[in-house]
Amino acid sequence: MTPFFKKPIHFFGGVLALVMAIVVSYFVLFPQVWHCEWVGYSSFREIAPRFFVSPDTPPIHQQKATRAIVEAEARVCHFWGKRVGKPTVILCHTTAQYERYCHSDEGAGCSIGTPWGASYIVLNLDGLNTDVIAHEMCHDELFTRLGWWTTTRQIPQWFNEGLALMVDYRFVPLTDSVQRYIDYKDEYLFRSNGGQIMLDLKQIASTRGFFGGDEQHVMLAYMSAGAEVARWLATVGEQRLSALTERVARGESFAKVYAEIERRSAQSRKKSQ
Ligand SMILES: [Zn+2]
Repeated sequence: MTPFFKKPIHFFGGVLALVMAIVVSYFVLFPQVWHCEWVGYSSFREIAPRFFVSPDTPPIHQQKATRAIVEAEARVCHFWGKRVGKPTVILCHTTAQYERYCHSDEGAGCSIGTPWGASYIVLNLDGLNTDVIAHEMCHDELFTRLGWWTTTRQIPQWFNEGLALMVDYRFVPLTDSVQRYIDYKDEYLFRSNGGQIMLDLKQIASTRGFFGGDEQHVMLAYMSAGAEVARWLATVGEQRLSALTERVARGESFAKVYAEIERRSAQSRKKSQ
């Protein structure tokens, strides 16, 4: 009998089995993560560091994507002050490829972040433009600064999407935050056929609440998110975004910090008047 050795071996064996079970379940539940992690061993080619393209992608699309990536990086860098995200970009050519890496056939692009910090931006042919790439890079930037756990637990979907719309000019062109707020409200008014009241932010805080409706609901969710984030940035100043993310990354509650920064900005504006 060797009781002193058997127990630790059983214990560590059990822990190892548990970790393996968690890892296997994760990849079963999220197969797209598995595919993204292994893109380097697929038929996709790495034509620049961390930029993989489908073997079916013609050179003209590769060049277009390369130019759009450079422009999107500059846009995101300017908005955030500096860029810390280093996602791997995967450019697909067919719907089947996009579904494999994104686990959805919806949209022009998607971003995927993992609990261990790796992140991916997957694009289909509709995503070959600066707006889509900058939008996904903005999601990635927030994810990189906060990490998977904090992003998942703390960040409401309306904030994540609204922020991404600040560097995505498909609905509202490049302008300052005040004008952007007015423009998103106008867009909402137009798309809701005169609806005056935006969607309730609580209703679009979860992924399901934001995307779980018909096309009209999702569009109004985007417009409400864009208007709210533009309103907040116009009130507090765009440079306060870093303060918000730094505090949330340190463990403070997003809702608390978001409200507090706005309250302090309003107070200091009153004092200076
Ligand atoms: Zn988005």
